[in-house]
Amino acid sequence: MRPDILIPLFASVQSFQGIGAKLSMWLEKLCGRRVIDVLWHLPTGLNERPVITQAPIEPHLATLQMTVMGYEVPHHKKQPYVVFGSWVGGEIQLLFFNYHASFLNKKFIVGRTLWVSGTVIQERGVTKILHPDYVEAEKAKIPELESVYPLKAGANGKVVRRLIEQILPTLPNLAEESPSLVAKYGWPSWKEAMCQVHQPKTQADLLPTNKARMRLAFDELLADQVALQLVRRYNKREMGLALPFQNNLVLQLPFSLTHAQIRCLKEIREDMESPERMTRLLQGDVGSGKTIVAVLAALQAVENGAQVAFLAPTDILAHQHYEKVKTFCALLKVNVGLLTGREKGRTREALLQEIVSGKVDILIGTHALLEENVVFKKLGLAIIDEQHRFGVRQRLALAEKEKGVNVLAMTATPIPRTLALTAYGDMDVSILNEKPAGRQPIETCVMPLSEVERLMMKLKENDSQVYWVCPLVADSESSDLMAAEKRYQSLQKIFGSQVGLIHGQMKAVEKDAAMTDFINGKTKILVSTTVIEVGVDVPSAGVMVVEHAERFGLATLHQLRGRVGRGREKAVCLLLYGRLSETGRERLKVLRESEDGFKIAEADLRLRGAGEVLGIRQSGLPLFHLADLSLQGELLEVAHEEAIQILKEDPKLETNRGQAVKNMLYLFSKEKELYLLKAG
Ligand code: ADP
Ligand code: MG
Repeated sequence: MRPDILIPLFASVQSFQGIGAKLSMWLEKLCGRRVIDVLWHLPTGLNERPVITQAPIEPHLATLQMTVMGYEVPHHKKQPYVVFGSWVGGEIQLLFFNYHASFLNKKFIVGRTLWVSGTVIQERGVTKILHPDYVEAEKAKIPELESVYPLKAGANGKVVRRLIEQILPTLPNLAEESPSLVAKYGWPSWKEAMCQVHQPKTQADLLPTNKARMRLAFDELLADQVALQLVRRYNKREMGLALPFQNNLVLQLPFSLTHAQIRCLKEIREDMESPERMTRLLQGDVGSGKTIVAVLAALQAVENGAQVAFLAPTDILAHQHYEKVKTFCALLKVNVGLLTGREKGRTREALLQEIVSGKVDILIGTHALLEENVVFKKLGLAIIDEQHRFGVRQRLALAEKEKGVNVLAMTATPIPRTLALTAYGDMDVSILNEKPAGRQPIETCVMPLSEVERLMMKLKENDSQVYWVCPLVADSESSDLMAAEKRYQSLQKIFGSQVGLIHGQMKAVEKDAAMTDFINGKTKILVSTTVIEVGVDVPSAGVMVVEHAERFGLATLHQLRGRVGRGREKAVCLLLYGRLSETGRERLKVLRESEDGFKIAEADLRLRGAGEVLGIRQSGLPLFHLADLSLQGELLEVAHEEAIQILKEDPKLETNRGQAVKNMLYLFSKEKELYLLKAG
């Protein structure tokens, strides 16, 4: 139950003056209709309306006093209604398009003195205002400073401002959750901070360095960190299956493991051995060899008579893992199964039967694994490859197939430590920071798209296999597809049947066929949309071409590049660009100069901001109202330490301070995590 003090914040704004059913619907679309939603709808600008007595040289927002001298009603719809007047600066005209003359006639009575405010311009010696924002008899009715709120089409900023003005005085005084930090940084109280961020006095007040904004950002980061710690604690509390390493199932590997692989494997083995449930993330750059680590962990579960579910984000990847795991385990008595959307009817029934009877030891598959009718006899380990591709709910769905199942998540998206604190804050992390020996650096070249014909001819002379990735087009998958098909056709003219095509809308069997042809060298060039971004492993491919590279995030480009350079030959990545902005140029430069995923991620964070770095929806990264991780990374570190400290001193959040922390969790919609506090 929400504490009483917070109840007014979660009430509908309909109780405030001027907010009827219609406006509250409109607010719902804009930001939500509860008081707290409106409070988090923060101003992004500040209008200053100084009173002027002289016409400005450049168009300028200002307020002035004028006397109405007359008006002109338009004869034609395209003409404006014009009010003529005089002011200390000389002659003035107010212009209105598409207005009812009867409405304006009442406002502008000849001889009246009025205060008007709007963007004042000067044209041939005449002062003009097009559609003034304010026309008032009293000056006091026109604000000198005015917060600017982000709005949707057809919206009126005045509504939000008036509502906020009514809300601010009603805000409760909340107890401090971090009094010492508030003192240390000289932050205002929560209520004071809310008032300040909504009523900035100068443009500088809108910057993230403003103390009120810092304070609220801290609250938000703290709520996030406490919530993550609660999840983490809850996950650990549940007893896991203890699966000791017995070394009964030994693989004959064609290579020796890297030091990093050995270290990560050791961390995983210890987790699996302990009766506490494992929730571990294996983070490693593309090509660092995560799969084999996962397979070795899987064998540890199997030798204890437990089953393993291995979840992959795409069909192609599930298939590839299946083939690999089968090859690795060929000499062992391990039963590997594959379940994707494509297994249907009897085959599927038979497979489901084998899973529930425990005959399948390692089940590899796509989202199909999550379906309810997939029941295991004894699931000991859930492996989630490219985990950022899955939502939290999907990850949970797999983890909940069996009580206490150990979870190993993997990701190839290296992210800066600050982001990791929030994106992966609920997990233990192992880092594969070393690539297998013998890899050659990939040469990265950046060139304009106009070179594309020449490039195609050059590829003709070369016998490397080529991935050719087509551009992202406007958000629409079908236009992505069109671009890929067009390129496929133009390449076919030169390379004939040596060109293959693969994209997300193909049937699984077709995708497999295209992939298999490429793996076997039957096709030399594989044209694709970004479906190959994750995981695909074809060591013989030596060239990666990306069209319109400027449209992709750095992380994606890094992933794409990681598809080549997996064999012993020198690989090349060609980034073709269309039009380049300054940032775009800088981003491609980062890529050309570094192959280190962590460095690239840091640069991406700096250049684009946190939300964009991973693609916010995919990353599981929370959407913050206020905190900006590209600017407030240090604040996150502070919040992280504070969260740990708070829960250490007050594990159940029962003290007064604990109550203040709980308030913050409510304010940032962390009810679910609060529930874990009780459940645990
Ligand atoms: P990722 O971490 O990107 O998922 P993979 O697991 O697909 O990388 O591994 C990339 C390639 O490196 C695979 O072909 C794999 O067999 C190979 N590989 C993995 N570990 C080693 C190693 N220690 N030495 C040599 N090659 C390795
Ligand atoms: Mg992989």
